[in-house]
Amino acid sequence: MPPILVLGTRNAKKRQEIEEILGDLDIRLQDLSAYSDAPEVVEDGTTFEANARKKAIETAQAIGQWTLGEDSGLVVPALGGRPGVLSARYAGKQGDDAANNLKLLAELAPLPIEKRTAYYVCTAALSDPRGMVHAVVEGRCHGRIIAERRGEGGFGYDPYFLIEEYHQTFGELSSRVKHALSHRGRALLQLRPILRQCLKPV
Ligand code: IMP
Repeated sequence: MPPILVLGTRNAKKRQEIEEILGDLDIRLQDLSAYSDAPEVVEDGTTFEANARKKAIETAQAIGQWTLGEDSGLVVPALGGRPGVLSARYAGKQGDDAANNLKLLAELAPLPIEKRTAYYVCTAALSDPRGMVHAVVEGRCHGRIIAERRGEGGFGYDPYFLIEEYHQTFGELSSRVKHALSHRGRALLQLRPILRQCLKPV
């Protein structure tokens, strides 16, 4: 039987991407729907790593399974690093992508294109069923925030996140290309050998 790895996130889009990226491994990826005792983890860390660890540890301890905690977001140097760890609730309400994008665009409106650089960060932490963290990995992906929405793919800030080498946003690029370039793809690539080592068939 393949070992179980629980994806400790309630963000369906993120979960789908993680499943697409790790789906070929001999591991059964599960979401939290089967675990009614999984807590609503409060993301009060000031870094992506602190939040990723917290999600992994608190969830693993509550459900007694290997758990992947993932925290990610968009960093805009011209905005002093915002939205950063607050990316999911930048405009106030958790997960309101449209409002978050409006706020980001309004703040960037006075800035010339050369100041609109940005990067995504993804930090993933792997916890064993007792809450011991075996690995923390980070991936980054650099781009530029454009003023006009382009493409319907991805989620969050993707329709405004331009990959300059491709002249396309993450909203326009296919999910296969996004995963090859993205912060999440790069972070999880580092995790693959560790998952193979820690999670063995039972
Ligand atoms: P978290 O659930 O606290 O880790 O917040 C993640 C938030 O960061 C999402 O709600 C998006 O706003 C943003 N984000 C992270 N990764 C991506 C991505 O791949 N595309 C677009 N937005 C992302």
